[in-house]
Amino acid sequence: AAKKSPGKRWLFYDESLHPVEQSKLEMEKEMRYGLERGEFLLHFQPLYRLETETVAGAEALMRWNHPKQGLLPPNQFIPLAEESRFIIPLGKWLIREVCRQWRDWKEQGYEPISLAVNISVNQFIHPEFVRELEGALREFEMDPAYLELEITENIPFSDAHAIAVLAHINQLGVRMSIDDFGTGYSSLQYIQRLPVHTLKIDRAFVYDMMQNRNNRVLVETILVMANQLELDVIAEGVEEQDQLDFLKEKGCTFVQGYLIGKPISAEEFQLKWLG
Ligand code: C2E
Ligand code: MG
Ligand code: MG
Ligand code: MG
Repeated sequence: AAKKSPGKRWLFYDESLHPVEQSKLEMEKEMRYGLERGEFLLHFQPLYRLETETVAGAEALMRWNHPKQGLLPPNQFIPLAEESRFIIPLGKWLIREVCRQWRDWKEQGYEPISLAVNISVNQFIHPEFVRELEGALREFEMDPAYLELEITENIPFSDAHAIAVLAHINQLGVRMSIDDFGTGYSSLQYIQRLPVHTLKIDRAFVYDMMQNRNNRVLVETILVMANQLELDVIAEGVEEQDQLDFLKEKGCTFVQGYLIGKPISAEEFQLKWLG
């Protein structure tokens, strides 16, 4: 029998009522309602081609317009979405929304641009993923050559299903990039073996590379390797002109960062960067 002393009250607590678990459950519920109510949206950050000095594309970055907390960045909800598998319906919405936006800009008469989208591991290995991708491309008549999927080194590149998905996506004509390149544990072997088109150098190497010789050497080495393997490179987090100048001199294909432009709403992106 339970004692009445207040100090022992915790004994009655169900594990599922632990405050942290409880708030996770509530947030998961909020996310599900939020998706139904259209609270998720995409911001777009320009991808700048150094050779032509033009904006050649954009990365779509998710935001949640929370009814009480306002606009939330992905690090405040993507991890829980992945943990709770909510990333599956959210990821399905994401793919359709990117394709829809591409068609919307096309119908407005703008020159088509490439759109890159972040795909989480669980979304990528989900059995319906390729089918949903194909469905969205068809529904919105998006030219697959303009879609780029950003995957990370967390994808199990040695797993037979993951390899089959990569091959299928490649067959569709959709491009793929390795995001946050250099921060993961992958072997370099897979890069030349797998149908990947672009390496995105993580901001962690770029932000201080003009002061930090080690990071500068790493960035240069990635550029030399990518050039030999005929891969494009996007340097993330470029904030300073001297970084851009250095990257251009070393043959980097694209830069992305606050120096060129921050992620902004579709309407703002259209006004600032299209047409
Ligand atoms: P990421 O894919 O590496 O995206 C780049 C992040 O760096 C973005 O943060 C962007 O706003 C930020 N950034 C870009 N240039 C600069 C710069 O010059 N300086 C600084 N300080 N930051 C810069 P954001 O939008 O907060 O996204 C964070 C991460 O959340 C993304 O990292 C990506 O891993 C994830 N994410 C975003 N959208 C989605 C999504 O739709 N699905 C999934 N699964 N993950 C997403
Ligand atoms: Mg990304
Ligand atoms: Mg990245
Ligand atoms: Mg990053």
